[in-house]
Amino acid sequence: MSGLNLVLLGPPGSGKGTQGERLQEDLRLPYYATGDILRAAVRDETELGRTAKEYMDRGDLVPDDVIVGAIGERLALPEAADGFILDGFPRTVPQAEALAAALSALGKGLTTVLLVDVDDGEVMKRLGGRRTCAENGHVFHIEFNPPQQDGVCDVDGSTLIVRDDDKPDVIGRRLDQYHEKTEPLIAFYDHQSLLRRVDGSAAPEEVATEIHRMLATLKLEGDEAL
Ligand code: AMP
Repeated sequence: MSGLNLVLLGPPGSGKGTQGERLQEDLRLPYYATGDILRAAVRDETELGRTAKEYMDRGDLVPDDVIVGAIGERLALPEAADGFILDGFPRTVPQAEALAAALSALGKGLTTVLLVDVDDGEVMKRLGGRRTCAENGHVFHIEFNPPQQDGVCDVDGSTLIVRDDDKPDVIGRRLDQYHEKTEPLIAFYDHQSLLRRVDGSAAPEEVATEIHRMLATLKLEGDEAL
């Protein structure tokens, strides 16, 4: 499908990253995950990374203007001309307004906003057990997707760590921020008839099937409207 401007919305740990990466391959669209962009900036010690780090370590959102600038540049790239997948952005109503303005200036708009929904208990379980490879960010889970050898990445042999923001008190903080600042986007996009929901508590395969079904329906509706 071309011209698909998609936003993935959902709490941390909902699996939207996993689904976003699959969609990127299936639909061959650029995938912009703000968490990944910020973590790379922190690793590379860029100005963006230096600003973002203290907020991220606490589980707070980085200020809107910081993130809006970083994502705005990407939406204007030629690679995004035929569509894109946004994961983790927007996360506040002002970010959503800035996104709408940036797209409108490019003569575009969002096609759909996909809410991948899971409850807080499931988020705590998923993120608390997550282990991340220190070198390349490969992700495991002590219960749901354990590595062959404890503490060692199956892919590149590097050490598995608990990301600073996957520590229990920081997970709690990230969830608070989600409820307070990001959840209002559900009503925001629902009012614009852009919101679609999938149940993120199912297995990744099932969630992926559900998303493809939803996108196919959307395409049909789009074709009928022509
Ligand atoms: P994530 O990997 O999407 O959970 O993002 C990790 C952290 O990056 C978040 O806890 C925030 O501190 C920061 N972050 C990512 N995206 C945004 C955003 N759109 N607005 C503000 N902060 C963000």
